[in-house]
Amino acid sequence: MVFLPKPGDAHVLDLFSLKGQVAVVTGGNRGIGLEVVKALAEAGASVAIIYRSSSSAHEIASQLSSQHGTTIRAYQCDVSDESAVDKVFDEVVKDFSKIDILVANAGICYNVAAEDMTTQQFRSEMGVNFDGPWFCARSASRYFKKQGSGNVIFTTSISGMIVNIPDKQAIYNASKAGLIHLVKSLAIEWIDFARVNCVSPGYIATDMLMAEPQELRDKWVALTPAKRMGETYELKGAFLFCASNASSFMTGANIVVDGAYTIP
Ligand code: NDP
Repeated sequence: MVFLPKPGDAHVLDLFSLKGQVAVVTGGNRGIGLEVVKALAEAGASVAIIYRSSSSAHEIASQLSSQHGTTIRAYQCDVSDESAVDKVFDEVVKDFSKIDILVANAGICYNVAAEDMTTQQFRSEMGVNFDGPWFCARSASRYFKKQGSGNVIFTTSISGMIVNIPDKQAIYNASKAGLIHLVKSLAIEWIDFARVNCVSPGYIATDMLMAEPQELRDKWVALTPAKRMGETYELKGAFLFCASNASSFMTGANIVVDGAYTIP
């Protein structure tokens, strides 16, 4: 098993320390990804933020860097472009010397009836949500295999586990379902050198969700037993748990954080 646990008498909070580790977080400049970056940095990791087109990613990285006292840098890369992904991972390793943790979090969502979805929209959504995490994981695995250790976390979704009502997100749902299954296969295939897990959030108040019509958001809240959307910071613990030695015997798992949406 990868990542030998610390001795059983270690202080429990030490298990969550990421001191000396290097993480890559895609879509780390805003929304859920930004909270993940904060969590990892607070635990002591240096972080490479990957963004697509944000004009403030570099400023955010430098602010977080001085706030947390670890190195945080931003890198532009479209995760659906495989050669760009390989290139950016090489660049990160050149700058940080290694990669220990990958959080493949970047994602997009089109709310389009399946029969109306164009091939271009289909390719774009699968490209970012499914190809992207796979390209990133494959690229990171080149280093993880050499190091003999590594940690992959995908941001999936409850939409990959159930189909929401009302919903026009068939391809989004399929992309996330594919990732949840990919986690299980990779966990087995990479058992000797990397752990692979995913976090499946329910409805979280980010730009992605706030772009949906109010009526749809109200319905999602009504269907959530907790009767509210989650806040991004409420995911920090789940990601840190996956990223740290606190979960050293966990691989192939899907951590669901959804205010009980998927229970009824
Ligand atoms: P946001 O829309 O707030 O942020 C999306 C992030 O992804 C941005 O940082 C964006 O970069 C980046 N991104 C998008 N496309 C690309 C690309 N081609 N290459 C690189 N980066 C890209 O989304 P959320 O924070 O809400 O979502 C983050 C993840 O969580 C997604 O995978 C989403 O599917 C998942 N999720 C979200 C839920 C929610 O309720 N919000 C629920 C369940 C899962 P830039 O700013 O440069 O465009």
